[in-house]
Amino acid sequence: MSHLRLNLLTGRWVTIVSSRAKRPTDFAERKAQVESDPNLPCPFCPEAQVGVPPILERLDADGHWHQRVIPNLYPAFDGHESFAVHHSGPVHIEADASGTHEVFITSPKHTGRPEGDTADDAIATMQMIKERFTEHAQVPNIRYTQAIINHGREAGASMSHPHGQILGLPFVPGELVDEQRAFSRFEGGCILCATAQAELVDGVRVIAANDDVVVVCPYWSETPYEVLIIPRHHDLHLTDTSDQGVGAVGVAIRDAVNALRAAHGDIAFNVVFHTAPHHYQGDYHWHVHLYPTLITTAGFERGTGVMINIVAPEQAAETLRRVPVDA
Ligand code: AMP
Ligand code: ZN
Ligand code: ZN
Repeated sequence: MSHLRLNLLTGRWVTIVSSRAKRPTDFAERKAQVESDPNLPCPFCPEAQVGVPPILERLDADGHWHQRVIPNLYPAFDGHESFAVHHSGPVHIEADASGTHEVFITSPKHTGRPEGDTADDAIATMQMIKERFTEHAQVPNIRYTQAIINHGREAGASMSHPHGQILGLPFVPGELVDEQRAFSRFEGGCILCATAQAELVDGVRVIAANDDVVVVCPYWSETPYEVLIIPRHHDLHLTDTSDQGVGAVGVAIRDAVNALRAAHGDIAFNVVFHTAPHHYQGDYHWHVHLYPTLITTAGFERGTGVMINIVAPEQAAETLRRVPVDA
């Protein structure tokens, strides 16, 4: 059973899940390149999934699944307890890590792609995420839902089969609280509506744009080639956006990953979905961050929180705009 501890120095919650150390990894012994161990059966492949009751799935005409959501067998957040903080010592503040933890499998193919084998798959995955977020919003102890994709061991993935995770949390995490504060502080309307508009005028940091999304290397990029995907319609929650708008974000993520692969090869990356906490009605605008793992953060960054970015976003955007991308 996992639990939460408050870091008094940062004010952020930490999840302690010792049992997760035993969860499997299908990556082979650490080598320079990431490949799965052929001796281990993959639990996310269709053969292993027979009899596993899914939470949600998309089937083809023959009844085979294309994408599905399943419970995480090694959940970091689990249970329906309400969020109660206990003091077990002068500096020891903890709470139950209640909530839910799910895995979404984005392809039946072991060598498929987490961002979608096709544009239709990317759209279908976004639809599943939207449905899970809608469901989580109805669960009383889930305050915020975080969807992520980790691809490649360097980006923290433990399984190589294409997948992502959806975590329903009993509290609003620090990163979100910081962004909410930034939206409230900003005096020029909505930060992301203003960013989309300003970057379209400027042009140099834009990778792609259409009626539904603007994709940029943000002006304030902390790491090389990070990408920000901004839905053009001002919605607080991912679930407020139309199915078409949500699908367009999925396609934009897929295109951006394609561009990164064309520029740098099959690199590891994280996709992070940021949406307003459930039922929150203050200032926010949902969006997606894509962080390729091209660097390791070191002592200065850990010590100060100040990132040193060696690739200007203008240069990164120019590269990503120019690379030939085959879908
Ligand atoms: P990642 O670590 O990002 O690759 O995500 C893989 C997730 O799959 C981890 O959170 C594991 O806890 C979870 N997991 C591993 N094996 C299984 C399984 N057989 N069924 C469900 N979830 C699993
Ligand atoms: Zn597999
Ligand atoms: Zn964000």
